Amino acid sequence: MSKTHRLELDDQTLREWDAVVLSSGPEGIVLDRSAFYPGGGGQPPDHGVLLWGGVQTRIVDARKGDDLYLVPAEDGPLPPAGTTVRGAVEDERRTALMRTHSGLHVLCGVVFRDFGALVTGGNMEPLSARMDFNLESVPPGFREDVEAACNAEVLAGRPIMVRELPRAEAFGIPDIIRTATNLVPEDVATVRIIDIAGLDQQADGGTHVASTSQVGRISVVKVENKGKGFRRLRIRIED
Ligand SMILES: [Zn+2]
Repeated sequence: MSKTHRLELDDQTLREWDAVVLSSGPEGIVLDRSAFYPGGGGQPPDHGVLLWGGVQTRIVDARKGDDLYLVPAEDGPLPPAGTTVRGAVEDERRTALMRTHSGLHVLCGVVFRDFGALVTGGNMEPLSARMDFNLESVPPGFREDVEAACNAEVLAGRPIMVRELPRAEAFGIPDIIRTATNLVPEDVATVRIIDIAGLDQQADGGTHVASTSQVGRISVVKVENKGKGFRRLRIRIED
């Protein structure tokens, strides 16, 4: 269990905070409190800086091991244990990833609702992403229909809510059974649920915007046929 309190899970809009260095070394820097998303669930880690005593340490990666390690740029100065630092997450990258990640939830919800297809994989970069679906055949107009339905959900401004539920209760929700039963380790007592009211619910540790209206326009740029029942949709998030 990591010693770092994960501020980004409490407040997805937080970009700056104060913290104390618990340890620093070749593996990275461990803080008592951090809003750096360490990557996971297809969302890449945050970038940013630590400021301490007039020194700036640029953070280019963050990852979960025994602890949550912040990885400095090559030859970056390491703040010693006990140092008070000001942490800042690079807003442009994180906000783009939150919009992209939330856009994938919209896509996932639309494709399940309108075509009954389940997600089998996905990946994202800031403002572009792909999602794989188990879909036997692609009906005529599929790309255009999915894009129109996604943008209708963006315009609808559906709230994107976060809540924590006891494991048994979370896995009583049919949508969660559909997407995540085998993904959450057995020793996890509470499950974080991301809920786009009426469209999509998932067990999820990532960061998201507060409403579908904050995603921006979703372009479905390509539908690829990767083999029997295996379709890959590529999207771009526009302003
Ligand atoms: Zn998510």
